[in-house]
Amino acid sequence: MLAKKPFKYGLKTCIFCGKPANSSEHVWPKWAHKLLPQFPNHTQLTLDAPVTKSIMSRTSERKRQGSVAKVAIKRVCSTCNNGWMSAYEENAKAILSAMMRGGHLALGAESQQLLTEYFTFKLMVLDWTNADPIFTQDERTAFYVNRAIPASLQLAMAYCRDASAHSYYRTHFIEAAMKTHLSTHTPGRNVKTIAVGFGGIFIFALCIRGEVDLSLKTIPGFVQLIPGKLATIRWPPFLVIGRTTLERVASSLDALKHHKKVTLIDDPNDAEASQTNK
Ligand SMILES: [Zn+2]
Repeated sequence: MLAKKPFKYGLKTCIFCGKPANSSEHVWPKWAHKLLPQFPNHTQLTLDAPVTKSIMSRTSERKRQGSVAKVAIKRVCSTCNNGWMSAYEENAKAILSAMMRGGHLALGAESQQLLTEYFTFKLMVLDWTNADPIFTQDERTAFYVNRAIPASLQLAMAYCRDASAHSYYRTHFIEAAMKTHLSTHTPGRNVKTIAVGFGGIFIFALCIRGEVDLSLKTIPGFVQLIPGKLATIRWPPFLVIGRTTLERVASSLDALKHHKKVTLIDDPNDAEASQTNK
């Protein structure tokens, strides 16, 4: 009789330091669970390339047991998780729990730096809900060693009171190129957005690998954290966003099909399928 293999998909390593990934990182940290609404079950929504101009994204919806707040991703080692990652949770807890509840804060350079580093490592973990992440190992290593923030990352935050969005998660991942340039990137998905509801804090991240020239638009109610623009961020923003705006922003990669400078790269298999449907 064959012994069962301990790891069905091979040994996974810590995405930061390369040691065996023997620890699970809670995306919504344990200290925050009491601040999040407890839904008995959640729907995991993944929007995935390949995409075509006619079929924007493939959506898969899976009913999962338990609150999304309990989701943990086993891609880190216990040394990282109980060491520097846990130190970030400790340091950011006071600011984050106030922000989650809509407390009035003036976030200066130091607080903005802390939030920038905190959200960066959280996004680097969340990135692994897709098998092929957008951040490169070089970017993760540079963060692990020097706390370098990837140049490819842009992040904006808003405040949303709607409790149904307080443990929200949605991601889009596509391949795109500029219409005016010959594409120089290696084939594969190169533009990813990640939207997360973290209590009342709604974060929207745009990450681009390669030459696609896109930047976050200024949307009423949103403040840009990465790259930083303001000496002081007043929290919550003057305009509080609702669920409709949140959904629109979370799925704004859809708007790329109307972008005058960007072209979406067709998947040949999909192109065939969509032609026969015409
Ligand atoms: Zn590690």
